[in-house]
Amino acid sequence: MSGGIPLTIDDALEALASGGITSEQMVSHSISVFQEDAHSPVPLNAFLEMYDDALERAREADRERAAAQKAGTLAALLQEKPLLGLPFAVKDNMSVQGKRLTCASHILEGYIAPYNATVIDRLVKAGAVPLGRCNMDEFAMGSSTEYSIYGPTRNPIDRAYVSGGSSGGGAAAVAANQALFALGTETGGSVRLPASYCGIYGLKPTYGVLSRWGIVAYGSSLDQVGVMGRTPRDIALPLSVMCGADFYDDTSADLPGADSLRNLQAFAKSDSAAFGGLKIAVPRQFLEAQGLSEDVRAVFDTTQKWFRDRGARVEQVDLPILNASLASYYVIALSEAASNLSRFDGIRYGHRVDPGEGYDELYVATRSEGFGAEVKRRIIIGNYVLSEQFSGDCYKKGMTVRARIQREIAALFQTHQVILCPTCPTAAFKLGQKVDDPLEMYLSDLYTMFVNLARIPSVSVPAGYTKPAGTEKAASPPALPVGIQFAGAMFSEPFILALAQAWEEDHPGCGIPVKDGTI
Ligand code: GLN
Repeated sequence: MSGGIPLTIDDALEALASGGITSEQMVSHSISVFQEDAHSPVPLNAFLEMYDDALERAREADRERAAAQKAGTLAALLQEKPLLGLPFAVKDNMSVQGKRLTCASHILEGYIAPYNATVIDRLVKAGAVPLGRCNMDEFAMGSSTEYSIYGPTRNPIDRAYVSGGSSGGGAAAVAANQALFALGTETGGSVRLPASYCGIYGLKPTYGVLSRWGIVAYGSSLDQVGVMGRTPRDIALPLSVMCGADFYDDTSADLPGADSLRNLQAFAKSDSAAFGGLKIAVPRQFLEAQGLSEDVRAVFDTTQKWFRDRGARVEQVDLPILNASLASYYVIALSEAASNLSRFDGIRYGHRVDPGEGYDELYVATRSEGFGAEVKRRIIIGNYVLSEQFSGDCYKKGMTVRARIQREIAALFQTHQVILCPTCPTAAFKLGQKVDDPLEMYLSDLYTMFVNLARIPSVSVPAGYTKPAGTEKAASPPALPVGIQFAGAMFSEPFILALAQAWEEDHPGCGIPVKDGTI
């Protein structure tokens, strides 16, 4: 344990069971770290707000546990509420009833969520405690959590670096030991990328496995809730209580084998046969891509070797269509965003600027003032792509490319079980380095987007560190975490998480060194 919150869910459950810690103590710790951070000259800025009822919920969980212990019914209670008393971080685009939700945007200032997102509801029913609202890129558009009206979230490993985005607040909260796990959302990599930059695990599930009800839409055909934690189990446990079809989301689906999420031992050390049958595909296009850093390549080589040493076959495969995934993603995501964000008009939600001249003027004034520059850029591109003259050339072509990506990835999974590739071309970059260069920023997601386009699941595992370049001088860059992703066929979450668990057992602590939130 470090600084108040145990590092993993298993540690927390053990400490709660033995009386070594209470839920109230965990939540109080996070609140005091949050308060201290607000006065720091270089704040981490992971949380934007701690929910005012978090402490009371934690106390209630402690009371329930104590009563069940006394009555000898604790086992039954934990069956029903497997996450009893465990604090988690929420992204600022998720509805928690009665709480503020802003998508890190002026346009939603003052908005209060009227109901719980399904994922929040299911976690709360399982006993978990929503701690607070975490920072993000405005409307989840970005890769660094710098496009936020609240200022950037910094990387807990070194505060001169970005945390990654758009779910950077949640990733930093977990990495800095301020929450046991965090919910994020993905449209094109926003859970895996910050997980990789902060040295933790991050899962983007199959499209449909987690309900989108109560989550603010960005690109609806791509959006999916994801989970970040310090170990694969810290992802699997919350996933097991959140997954499953939801009446309120027609695109939601049941996850086959969801029960096995609570036992991830499919690739236990003693069982080399399990690895012997594995065929792993490495897309050649990603290795040849410009911008892949030497450090990431070196970590990736070690990861491939780990699979080979355990008996798996690792093969390079040709998927030229992947070269078009970034273009296809931006055409589709931005078209859907332009349409989804049209609802923020100053009438129905949040902020309103009314020059008193009629509706058109009200819309224009509200949206001009309410949205940040990056969001406006994307709305303009999206509307351009959808306009009559260009939709044939752009939107339909983007959709055709997507369909081909889906077909070719599905065909690849007929012969291989895993696609292995780096999560990002580089490790975390410095604050401010890419913020004025949208294209450079977009390229950070080069390796993550095909997963969203193909709707498959993928987990980013902390796989190593960049070498500190040059000498030992104080000025040399710090060693930063590097993530590698294991992507599987649709609905293969139990399988890829079990693989990640095998990785974790061989590389414990491959995530960031243990420090508390006051680093
Ligand atoms: N960085 C990508 C974008 O800005 C992905 C964001 C996300 O997954 N929400 O669109």
